Amino acid sequence: MKTVAVIGAGVAGPTVAMALQLAGFEPVVYESHPSGSEGVGAFVILHVNGIDALRAIGADKCLDGLGFDTPQMRFRSGTGRSLGVAGTGLPLADGTVGRTIRRADLCGALRDEALRRGIDFEYGRRLADVSGVDGGVVAVFEDGARHEADLLVGADGIKSRVRALIDPAAPPARYIPNLYISGYARAGVVDVPPGEYQMVFGRRCFFGYTVAPGGEVWWFANPPYPDEPSQNELRELGDAHWRATLADLLGVDPGPAGKIVEATDHELVAWPFHDIPTVSRWHRDRMIIIGDAAHATSPAAGQGASMAIEDSVELGRCLRDLPDARQAFRAYEGLRRERVERVVATGAKWSTFKSVGPVARMIRDMIMPVMLKYYAGDGGASLGWMHHHHIEWDERVPAGPRGIV
Ligand SMILES: Cc1cc2nc3c(=O)[nH]c(=O)nc-3n(C[C@H](O)[C@H](O)[C@H](O)COP(=O)(O)OP(=O)(O)OC[C@H]3O[C@@H](n4cnc5c(N)ncnc54)[C@H](O)[C@@H]3O)c2cc1C
Repeated sequence: MKTVAVIGAGVAGPTVAMALQLAGFEPVVYESHPSGSEGVGAFVILHVNGIDALRAIGADKCLDGLGFDTPQMRFRSGTGRSLGVAGTGLPLADGTVGRTIRRADLCGALRDEALRRGIDFEYGRRLADVSGVDGGVVAVFEDGARHEADLLVGADGIKSRVRALIDPAAPPARYIPNLYISGYARAGVVDVPPGEYQMVFGRRCFFGYTVAPGGEVWWFANPPYPDEPSQNELRELGDAHWRATLADLLGVDPGPAGKIVEATDHELVAWPFHDIPTVSRWHRDRMIIIGDAAHATSPAAGQGASMAIEDSVELGRCLRDLPDARQAFRAYEGLRRERVERVVATGAKWSTFKSVGPVARMIRDMIMPVMLKYYAGDGGASLGWMHHHHIEWDERVPAGPRGIV
């Protein structure tokens, strides 16, 4: 049986390992962190296309009991006026809708499901380098460990080491001048319909929130931050700084944002926003990158995790059906590149709506109700290309024109 070294145990790592195992490979997942708990505070929306892709490999049930359904978003102006609603994708045939879930819970559930299927994980292994061997690849880790495999999949996220090893000239991630701060506030701070996000284009800061069953408020803010900071710089600024910043930025709007931040009793941490519009080389020899490593998207699209899952399933199909890695990787790229780059471009466009000057704000607040009415009127079909993407696991990947082999 062919072996695969999967680098990274975030969203794509455990998922691609499961897809590869079903495709007849023997994967081992190597993760740099001692446990898989990076980014504990953040939560993500898993859209129906991501859930559907997990279902293709029989892994969607691992999400049962985690997070909560969030089928709808209501957009509001800084004054609190409703600009309209948008769905998070039409429900799947059995009624499944988009779900909000803590990122750490999502990664943990995928890892536990992969472990249950007998896949091995090694934590505390940071990939440093690779070297070729006859018919395979050797992963070299910072601690000096070396592991040989037939193939290597880089699922190592936005700062991917594998991307740089495939192509040292690969572009770095692009900074989008907003930060992301999220939190969980005490129950009972606001009264809004369950399952509906409130997305507020505040005058000085975008603010989104939704209420979990039980009343806890899950929120995030995107304060503008023009120059790219390092993660250390943001960490050093610390909780008190972020509370004061948010109180100042959100205090000019009439909504409950300020009250929600005040009712949050854990430490606030800020993250920079990045995307990668295009990475020209996804694979070389026996190595390939997937997920954020290949095409990180701004969180505004809410599709990063779902794209990582779709990638994983498609790579499994291609490696199952095509006779060698070269053909499989090219077929995979043929299936994925256009779609993921369209998602990244859409996310970048939506990000720009978040922090605009007074004139653009007026125009945005006039245009959005019309746009949202249009999306609602066609039942979400105009965004169907994004949300209603179905992968049929049992369908053979042709070695034909789509696959460019
Ligand atoms: C603040 C924020 C909010 C977001 N909101 C949403 C949302 O609402 N909806 C959505 O779909 N997506 C959202 N995303 C994006 C989503 O989290 C990512 O797109 C998704 O996690 C990508 O999965 P991945 O497996 O490719 O990368 P990651 O989940 O980042 O996993 C990469 C893993 O590789 C490990 N690693 C890195 N380097 C090495 C190395 N050299 N050796 C070994 N291991 C390594 C890392 O520790 C990590 O565990 C958000 C992201 C952020 C930061």
